[in-house]
Amino acid sequence: GPLSVGEFAKLLRKEASEVIRKLIPIGVMATINQEIDVDTMTLVAEEFGVTVIYKEEFDESNIEEIEEVDEKENLQERPPVVTIMGHVDHGKTTLLDKIRSTNVTSGEAGGITQHIGAYQVEISGKKITFLDTPGHAAFTTMRARGAEVTDITILVVAADDGVMPQTIEAINHAKAANVPIIVAVNKMDKLDANPDRIKQQLTEYGLVPEDWGGDTIFVPVSAINGEGMEDLLEMILLVSEVQELKANPDKRARGVVIEAELDKGRGAVATVLIQNGTLKVGDGIVAGNYFGKIRAMINDHGRRVKVAPPSMPVEILGLPDVPSAGDPFMVFDDEKKARAIADKRNQKQREEERGAKTRVTLDDLFKQIQEGEVKELNVIIKADVHGSAEAMRGSLEKIDIEGARVKIIHTAVGAITESDIILASASNAVIIGFNVRPEPNARATAEQEKVEIRLHRVIYKAIEEIEAAMKGLLDPEF
Ligand code: GDP
Repeated sequence: GPLSVGEFAKLLRKEASEVIRKLIPIGVMATINQEIDVDTMTLVAEEFGVTVIYKEEFDESNIEEIEEVDEKENLQERPPVVTIMGHVDHGKTTLLDKIRSTNVTSGEAGGITQHIGAYQVEISGKKITFLDTPGHAAFTTMRARGAEVTDITILVVAADDGVMPQTIEAINHAKAANVPIIVAVNKMDKLDANPDRIKQQLTEYGLVPEDWGGDTIFVPVSAINGEGMEDLLEMILLVSEVQELKANPDKRARGVVIEAELDKGRGAVATVLIQNGTLKVGDGIVAGNYFGKIRAMINDHGRRVKVAPPSMPVEILGLPDVPSAGDPFMVFDDEKKARAIADKRNQKQREEERGAKTRVTLDDLFKQIQEGEVKELNVIIKADVHGSAEAMRGSLEKIDIEGARVKIIHTAVGAITESDIILASASNAVIIGFNVRPEPNARATAEQEKVEIRLHRVIYKAIEEIEAAMKGLLDPEF
């Protein structure tokens, strides 16, 4: 926070008078006891050749932010975490099943596979973790909750069909999360498979195959007969090598809840993905708002395990209640502290539910631009026809008001769906509907997530509205 000139001078190991002298040219007339803000301190410190690092006030219940820095020598390679996305019926589930049944982790051969929300396979002695809820609902729900678990996205496109609305949605979801995409051109066994058409179509969305001079990996596969499956897994390893995914297995674990439910016999059961450290039976953890001790851990083959290293998914028993998918979890050595943190998170959540979440709205956009909080307004366009969506995109992208710009993160034809709302929520975007309406459940989700939807029937009105909002000239009629 702010400091007095005197305190600040002490930190800099300078005389207060020297600081005061540096303040004058930047228009600040201050006495020794007067407080100056962080920006001013930064400017003055620069004059003395010092860089100010400003630490936010530390809130311990924010376990997402507690992070011990790992020394380089403690870091080890960890398996990539992969999500499969694509249009319905293009073969996501079949692909996940095929990969799982043909690439069992060593030591697990013959084990019964059990659905716990994620699984690991082994290829060339290396592991890969797959989240086995196909589709982008899981992916975006987690992102909306601030959990970035996916390292690589496999975009499944059926070679006998082509790029479809959910294909494009998936691309935009992955791009918004900055996750690299590998394209699996599926159903190559079909007589009418046309992989070149898929390549052609995806080029329009910035996914240009390597053999056409781009940098996107395309792998032809058949999830039915297993063709290309090895290649696909090898490509995943290749991309993950470039990412240099690392973690420190020698510390207390932290990660994310993938799914959770109340089991009649076993009580609260949660599948967690370890992102760093190693989870052990007996560890005290905070998951979401709950504190519990790990009573047992079960792997994706239904076997009990005692430890779970980075990128491994395990089911855990021992929580008093069911956390939500996307909730972070973390191990604490100090049980009292852990309980206190869980209580505080619980309380914070109740407060948040009472108060509104902060979201970009057109009404306060100008203020947020002025305060430097917003430089890009993220927008999702839904329209009745392709032509109007593109026309709207073109005009909105041209807007530039005092350095603030419009960034279109997704355009599509059709009604506003729940998936649009979740993408908007995860990306802090507003949705513009042109001659379309939200589906009933989308409307409810929008209210819950505080996502703004603006409906229009005339393109220039929509554009005028955004411009007015960015200039702070929006009529307060809404
Ligand atoms: P999802 O909706 O993307 O999960 O798609 P599914 O995995 O349920 O597959 C939809 C349909 O396509 C099913 O009838 C699958 O048997 C079929 N299918 C999936 N992959 C292939 C493939 O590689 N070749 C052929 N011929 N059919 C496939």
